[in-house]
Amino acid sequence: MSRKRVFFFGDENTEGKTEMKEQLGGKGANLAEMANIGIPVPPGFTIDAPTCIEYFDKGEKLWDDLRDEIRKHLERLEKTMGKKFGDNEDPLLVSVRSGAKISMPGMMDTILNLGLNDDAVEGFAKVTDNKRLAWDSYRRFIQMFSDVAMGIEADKFEEKIEEMKQKKNYENDTDLTVDDLKELVKQFKEIYKEEKGEPFPQDPKEQLWDSIEAVFSSWNNNRAITYRNLNNIPHDLGTAVNVQAMVFGNTGENSGTGVAFTRDPSTGKNKFYGEFLPNAQGEDVVAGIRTPQPLNKDEEKEGQTSLEVYMPEIYKQLRKIQKKLENHYTDMQDFEFTIQDGELYLLQTRTGKRTAKAAVKMAVDMKEEGLIDKKTAVKRVDPDKLETLLHPMIDPKAEKEVLTEGLPASPGAAVGKVVFDSEEAYLKAEEEGEKVILVRLETSPEDIKGMAAAEGILTVRGGMTSHAAVVARGMGKCCVAGAGEINLDYETQEFEVDGKTIKKGDFITLDGSSGEVMKGKVPTIEPKIKGEFEKLMEWVEEYRELGVRTNADTAHDAELARNFGAEGIGLCRTEHMFFEGERIQAVREMILSNTEEERRKALKKIEPMQKDDFVEIFKAMDGLPVTVRLLDPPLHEFLPMEEEQQKEIAKDLDVDVEEIKDKVEALSEINPMLGHRGVRLGITYPEIYEMQARAIIRAACEVKDEGLDVIPEIMIPLVGTPEELDQMKVVVDDAAQKVFDQTKTKVDYKVGTMIEVPRATVVADEIAKTAEFFSFGTNDLTQMTYGFSRDDIGKFVNIYQKKNILENDPFQVLDQKGVGELVKMGLERGRKTKKDLKVGICGEHGGEPSSVKFCYNIGLDYVSCSPYRVPIARLSAAQAAIEKSE
Ligand code: ADP
Ligand code: MG
Ligand code: MG
Repeated sequence: MSRKRVFFFGDENTEGKTEMKEQLGGKGANLAEMANIGIPVPPGFTIDAPTCIEYFDKGEKLWDDLRDEIRKHLERLEKTMGKKFGDNEDPLLVSVRSGAKISMPGMMDTILNLGLNDDAVEGFAKVTDNKRLAWDSYRRFIQMFSDVAMGIEADKFEEKIEEMKQKKNYENDTDLTVDDLKELVKQFKEIYKEEKGEPFPQDPKEQLWDSIEAVFSSWNNNRAITYRNLNNIPHDLGTAVNVQAMVFGNTGENSGTGVAFTRDPSTGKNKFYGEFLPNAQGEDVVAGIRTPQPLNKDEEKEGQTSLEVYMPEIYKQLRKIQKKLENHYTDMQDFEFTIQDGELYLLQTRTGKRTAKAAVKMAVDMKEEGLIDKKTAVKRVDPDKLETLLHPMIDPKAEKEVLTEGLPASPGAAVGKVVFDSEEAYLKAEEEGEKVILVRLETSPEDIKGMAAAEGILTVRGGMTSHAAVVARGMGKCCVAGAGEINLDYETQEFEVDGKTIKKGDFITLDGSSGEVMKGKVPTIEPKIKGEFEKLMEWVEEYRELGVRTNADTAHDAELARNFGAEGIGLCRTEHMFFEGERIQAVREMILSNTEEERRKALKKIEPMQKDDFVEIFKAMDGLPVTVRLLDPPLHEFLPMEEEQQKEIAKDLDVDVEEIKDKVEALSEINPMLGHRGVRLGITYPEIYEMQARAIIRAACEVKDEGLDVIPEIMIPLVGTPEELDQMKVVVDDAAQKVFDQTKTKVDYKVGTMIEVPRATVVADEIAKTAEFFSFGTNDLTQMTYGFSRDDIGKFVNIYQKKNILENDPFQVLDQKGVGELVKMGLERGRKTKKDLKVGICGEHGGEPSSVKFCYNIGLDYVSCSPYRVPIARLSAAQAAIEKSE
């Protein structure tokens, strides 16, 4: 006996249910479920999704056994409906609908009114006493069947309809008369014959087999494949096929069709919401041929009639169904309905998509209403979505002209005047108070000042972890990166895209959440962390176990993150401080030094400034740990590449420009990411780390003396051997001791290391002998494990994803199999040496939900992420804890 592939729904013995979603697809499982709970659905049957995969294995042809099983169910449908499929007097008409486990709106195909032919259309007209309905249904069927099952261009038919409407001076499709429709049917059949070389199939069975095959095949149409790639939906699920008795919303004024949501999907308000069209078939609502009417009376605009007024009885029934569906599914439902001659039917229900705001509101409201419990409420909100609640956003109602799309590198919206130079961005913003958008081919650390001053950043090159993207996210600043269609000309100070030219000073708007670049000023709205959002975050704290810290380089960011619930700083990068104000000059002096003595002199100038920064940060983080990473980037990043700027520096520092050129030359590296950086700087110039350690400890003593609680953790980057750390720890401890001797104050501090070189994960047990904490730097660890340069991955990551080599960009979503395994190993080996070793992660992954869950599950103490991601990490951590407890 072969397995059961077809499942009936809609009579007393419905065979499916919601839990069979995987097998029957969302549409099929929920049609069955609605039948089970007594909601009226037209009966039908579902051919399951595994059959779709078998169908592809068998060379895209239906086979005999399967046809037999379908025939049996068709007979049962005939019995239920009291009509015969293929009958010429009173034909049973059906729809053939796709429906996968995960809904892919509009990606696959549906055929309506199947079973009509030249004879049946006459019979159908007679029994319904409605010629118009019959002929309108027939012409729709020919159109859909030709397009979906036979691949004939839909436009060919639409053209004929347009021609007819013009000839007759009609405005709407509904103006077409029975004779017009008959004429169209004739023309449509001619098109079919021309295209296929044979007449339009008159045998309903043949129509059915072809349509089922077409729906199965639509699983692998380009649209559907692209959609699955974009949304990480597996390709081997297949789609189910639903064959369902037709109901007609187009029989006349007592009929109609619509869509509804049990709550408002954009605000989340507990308010019935939806639209309908009188005298229409399902697809008309979506197609936008006519303007739909609201369901509720209080939403009527001038000239509109709501369903509540138009069909008060039906409206009442719908309201009952609204309650029933929500109580049953305990979530907001998005459903389709059709009214045939005053009878209401539901044709689909699914969990409705919603905005971030609505998701939070609904979760909290439903818990308060007693519909769901607290754990479910916490689990219900997609953590990634929270970010959009924390930044200004494009007003969803605003009109916009999209110039191009880049990567949605850092969310939020930004409106400002285009500026192509960072210095200019800084001047314009700080001194003239202008709102600017910094547009660059790409950014480098030199651009920080301009980036900080700008409203948003747009780059032509670079990926999701390019400098611009990472820094922008850290700053919580909107950024669109890698907008490769843009032709940027620094010379003429303008860019061209899609035939349009944008000059310096022109306004543009960026949407960092979608990647859209828009012309002019598009209105934005300000977010609030209040009300339901606040409540939800309170509940999150009841479950969360994993610590959440922030990556912050300034007191401002530290405070911001603390407000979002950060429990300390997991990564404070010191190099960003090197760029600010006059310090860059002292830093450059230090770099240009030829002897240790000269270097120490320059470092002396930097030290008080660094100390002051740390004082501010320690104050902002009173009572919480602050991990400070000592200097990490290669020194050449602090010197400009362009000759003009080199000349300026020469003048500022009173040295010969040649000297600077020579230094740039000398510092240039073939592969700077693997070059003279991180602890290697500390080993070669210990005086740099010594100065930084002193500044940190001084600041700590000062803050402690003010009566605050300071917990400094000094972190050495890029360690690959225990010796590197051992030697640097001596330098740090010596510097600290000297400060204590001078100030007569003492603070507890820790010296630890970043684990970001693969070798460090292997010798972690030895490193842990000296290290007092570990922090996994998963950006560099990913870079060195995969051997992918994070600044160049943009060139191929998309192709790798398309070709199924990479599921995600590994710089965004932690590669659990490879990099994650190294993290696990490093953690285990480190804790073998020190049982209580505190271990966290501070890469970009620290704010990515699936990576946060991984970190919790392997036993890390905390994750650290940019301030705006702190609530996301908290929610993800709570969800991970709930999942583990279940
Ligand atoms: P999609 O997944 O693109 O929404 P559907 O399978 O839901 O496609 O069908 C498209 C439209 O046709 C919907 O409006 C649906 O309600 C309507 N429809 C589908 N089957 C029937 C039917 N048996 N009777 C009446 N309308 C139907
Ligand atoms: Mg639908
Ligand atoms: Mg690093």
